[in-house]
Amino acid sequence: MPTRFKTRMEHIEWCGDDVLIVSIAKPKGYSFRAGQWFRLYLSTDQGEQVRTLSHAAGPGDRDLLIATRLSDSAFKRALATAAVGEAVEISAPGGRLSLPDSTAGPLILTGGVGVAPVRSLLRQARFEGRRFEDAVMFYGVRDDACIPFQRELEDLSQIGLRVIIVCEHPGEAWSGERGLITPELVSRYVGDAAAHPAVVTGPPAMVRAMELLLDELGIDEESRTVERFGALA
Ligand SMILES: Cc1cc2nc3c(=O)[nH]c(=O)nc-3n(C[C@H](O)[C@H](O)[C@H](O)COP(=O)(O)OP(=O)(O)OC[C@H]3O[C@@H](n4cnc5c(N)ncnc54)[C@H](O)[C@@H]3O)c2cc1C
Repeated sequence: MPTRFKTRMEHIEWCGDDVLIVSIAKPKGYSFRAGQWFRLYLSTDQGEQVRTLSHAAGPGDRDLLIATRLSDSAFKRALATAAVGEAVEISAPGGRLSLPDSTAGPLILTGGVGVAPVRSLLRQARFEGRRFEDAVMFYGVRDDACIPFQRELEDLSQIGLRVIIVCEHPGEAWSGERGLITPELVSRYVGDAAAHPAVVTGPPAMVRAMELLLDELGIDEESRTVERFGALA
């Protein structure tokens, strides 16, 4: 039986209609590296269920943090109705997602709750005092009702990161980029995209679209770090 840690829900916050940002108390003896994931076990109306979720917090943060999009699954229903203080269990961490070691800033492509492990990595990069040359993050969101971690990501210019939020269905007041992340959009912000290592995280369909985009921009597979939130349907 894999190691399981007993812990509890610490804080639950809605972001828009269908995204939850959940803090979970860091269990004693639990440690992880930025960008890793863990499994969260919840008791649901269909028995115990488990999902893999990425750390959005950095290893030095007090609590663990996740961002997840709700669905009608028993697991997500249980999460949406969980109470602060409720007992839950998590697995040991897994995964090897990391930021490239080069000084050439990464081209980060993410969308929706795919931003979670990116936030973890960037918090750690800031904590370690890293400074990138021209790192650019394209962050695709469905609408601008609530953009998880927007303000703190936009504040990361101190580590040499520019954040371009690309909103598919913005309200009238939105002044940022609209639509989807396309090769043309990336080229407008990044002169020689092929000179940058790429980091891609998110739901399978989004990751697939970004891989095709990277093909088009001439970023070869060895220069890509990819975290796909599940198998391609
Ligand atoms: C490395 C990695 C990191 C991820 N990080 C995040 C994240 O940060 N945030 C996030 O929202 N999602 C993340 N996911 C995806 C997450 O694990 C879920 O697949 C996703 O949130 C959809 O879950 P659902 O319950 O809404 O959907 P569902 O469609 O009900 O389930 C999605 C998947 O869960 C599996 N599943 C269904 N029922 C069960 C069950 N009873 N027991 C076990 N597995 C079952 C199925 O194989 C299905 O493919 C990550 C996935 C991976 C692989």
